[in-house]
Amino acid sequence: MGLFTSNPLPDPVGDAAPPVDEHPSRITEVLGHLRSSADSRITHPRRFRAQQLRALEKMLAERMGEFLAALAEDLGKSATEAKFSEIDVVRSEIDHAQRHLSEWMDSTTVKVPFALQPAIAKVEPRPLGVVLIIGPWNYPLQLMLAPLVAAIAAGNAAVLKPSELAPATSGALAKLLPMYLDARVYAVIEGGVDTATELLHARWDHIFFTGGQQVARVVAEAAAKHLTPTTLELGGKSPAVVDNHLLPTAKRLAYAKFMNTGQTCVAPDYVLSFGDTDALISRLGQAITSFYGKDPINHPDFGRIVNRKHFDRLVGMLDSGEVVHGGDYDADTLRIAPTIMRHIDLDSALMQEEIFGPILPVIEVATFDEALEFIASRPSPLAAYLMSESPRLQSIFSDRVRAGAIVHNAPLAQMVIPSLPFGGVGASGMGSYHGKYGFDRLSQIRSELSKTTVIDTLSAIYPPYTWAKRKIIDRLL
Ligand code: NAD
Repeated sequence: MGLFTSNPLPDPVGDAAPPVDEHPSRITEVLGHLRSSADSRITHPRRFRAQQLRALEKMLAERMGEFLAALAEDLGKSATEAKFSEIDVVRSEIDHAQRHLSEWMDSTTVKVPFALQPAIAKVEPRPLGVVLIIGPWNYPLQLMLAPLVAAIAAGNAAVLKPSELAPATSGALAKLLPMYLDARVYAVIEGGVDTATELLHARWDHIFFTGGQQVARVVAEAAAKHLTPTTLELGGKSPAVVDNHLLPTAKRLAYAKFMNTGQTCVAPDYVLSFGDTDALISRLGQAITSFYGKDPINHPDFGRIVNRKHFDRLVGMLDSGEVVHGGDYDADTLRIAPTIMRHIDLDSALMQEEIFGPILPVIEVATFDEALEFIASRPSPLAAYLMSESPRLQSIFSDRVRAGAIVHNAPLAQMVIPSLPFGGVGASGMGSYHGKYGFDRLSQIRSELSKTTVIDTLSAIYPPYTWAKRKIIDRLL
C-alpha cells in the first residue's frame, strides 16, 4: 500500500498534518489531525474558502504540464483533450464558485406565520465537517478536484483518495496538492482497495464516491455504519436515440463516444436507431475517419485502454454482433480502434454491462416508442440522449425517460455547464453536484429561528386548553 501526504515545501499556513508512512495506523493519525483542525472551524470563513479556491486555481495553472504528463502516462490522453476535459472543467468550476460564493453562503430569511410573530426565521448553509472523496481512474484529475471545489466552497475539510489505476495522476495530486492547499485540512491518501477499506471504517461527515455500482454498494454499506450521508456518482448504459441520421448527428455521437477512448461515464453507451440506420452507420464511419484518420490506433489524439483487464474485457465484446467499422486492436499498446457494431446479441455482456470503451453498438428499432420502451425496461442511466430536431419527440423523450440528464443533440455537453446539476438517478447514482448543487450537497441546510421573551405571545397557546384558547389556536395555526 502506497500512501501519501508528502509535503515537500515548508507548510505555508502552519501546523500541517504529519506525512503518512507505510504503516496503516498512520491513516488514523492523519485523520485525527485533520478532524481536530476542521473542528476548530478554520475552513468556515468566506475568506479562507476563497483563498483555498485561489490556491487550487494556482496549482492547476502552474502545474498544468505535470498533470498533463501524468494523464498521458496513465491513459495516453492527448494534451488538448486532457486540458479541456480534466483541467479546464475544474477551472471553470472554481471560477463559478468564486463568483457565487458569497451569494451561496448567504442565509435566507423566510416568512414567519402570524402565530409565531414577532420572530426571525432563516435558512443558512453550514459546513458539514470532513468529507471523504473517492474517485475513479477515467478522469482521474477532474473527478477528484471538481468535488473538492464543492467541499472547499461549502467550508469543509477533505481527504482525497484517487484511483490506484491512474498512478501517475494520483502521485501528482499527492505531491502537488499539499504544496498549494492548507495541509491542516486537505489531504491526499493514495492507495487501492485496502486503503479505501480502511478509510471507509473511519467516521466522515459525507462520503463523495465516483465509480462503479459494485463498489458503490460497499461504500453505502460502510457509510450506513456511521449513518454518513453519501453522494454516489455512478455509471450505467446511457442510450442515444437517433431520429436524425445526418452527418452532424454522427459527428456529435462519435465525438462523445470516442473521447477518452469511450472511457467516459456519460458517453453514449449504445444507439437506438429508427429510420435510415444504414445511412447512420456509414456517417458514423465517416465521422470516425475524419477525427482519427485511417489508422486510429496510432493516432495521437486517440488514447488507450487503462489496463489489460479492461482491454481483454472489451476485446471479448467484439464477438457479440457484427463489426461494421473498426474492430482492430493492439494488445501491446492496449489500443482498440473506434468500433461500430450492429446485429447485437442483446443478452451479451456488450448489452448487459456498461461498455466503457470505444465500441458503439447500433440497435435498430421500428419506432420511437419501441426505443422508449427499450430504455424503460433497463436501469436508469446517467444520461439519455435524443438526436432529433422534432420538438414533439423531444418533449415526449423528456417526459418519459428517467435518467440523470436529458440532452437533445449535444451528448456530453451537459457536463461543462456549472449551473446544471450533474448526477444520476436510481442505478446511476444519488445526489448531484457542480456549481451550487455541489455547494448545497456538501452543506447542512440549517434552520434558525429567533424570538424574544420580552413579549410572550406564545402564552395564548399554553395549556390548559380552555374554550377560548382552542378558538385562538384554531385561528392562528
Ligand atoms: P471503481 O468503482 O472500481 O473504483 C472507484 C474507486 O473505488 C477507486 O478509487 C478504487 O480504489 C475504489 N475501490 C475499489 N474497490 C473498492 C472497495 N472494495 N472498497 C472501497 N473502495 C474501493 O470504478 P472505476 O473502475 O475506477 O471507474 C469506472 C466506473 O466509474 C464506471 O462505472 C463509470 O461509469 C463510473 N464513473 C462515474 C462517473 C460519474 O461522474 N457519475 C464518472 C466517472 C466514472
